[in-house]
Amino acid sequence: MSLSVVKYGELVLRQKGARIERMTPDLKKFIDQMFETMYHARGLGLAAQQVGRALQLTVLDIREATGRPSTLEIEGKTVDAADFMPLVLINPEIKPLGEPVPGPEGCLSFPEIYCDITRPESIEVKARNEKWEQLSFRCGGLLARAIQHEYDHLQGILFIDRMTREQKAEFKPELEALQAETKAALAAKKRNGLQ
Ligand code: ZN
Repeated sequence: MSLSVVKYGELVLRQKGARIERMTPDLKKFIDQMFETMYHARGLGLAAQQVGRALQLTVLDIREATGRPSTLEIEGKTVDAADFMPLVLINPEIKPLGEPVPGPEGCLSFPEIYCDITRPESIEVKARNEKWEQLSFRCGGLLARAIQHEYDHLQGILFIDRMTREQKAEFKPELEALQAETKAALAAKKRNGLQ
């Protein structure tokens, strides 16, 4: 079952995710639903907050974005990032390595808003996966960008927070309209007794 994606204006997007202590059947099912939701929306990544649960959990699959290269290194060995997909990151920790570089980003919680965001080119990642295995790797390019975007979500940080002052001014009308639309949709749901 595909879940509905939370849009900008809902408070859960601003909540820091709770640490996950162990894998449970409920969590396994939730992870499957997150993948289904992400693929359905044609996203490269999805954070738990984006489907309404503030947890340290994100899913990614960058294979669709064939024109944007990624690098991946596990235990000093270079591997193909595509072979590492799909990817589940639980309680991730990241360390920036490369120089900050700008690159295009979008977000399923911000339909039709795309903007160049500056982030470190490569990162070191430590996390657990859905099998509760400890992962440790270095990555660059699109994968590093996607993981940093999702990691931010888990802290309640959104890509608009990383826009420059000029970009914020440029997108202000769209962001205000989106926020108003989300709040109106929530109010309507409440009136209809759905929430
Ligand atoms: Zn996002």
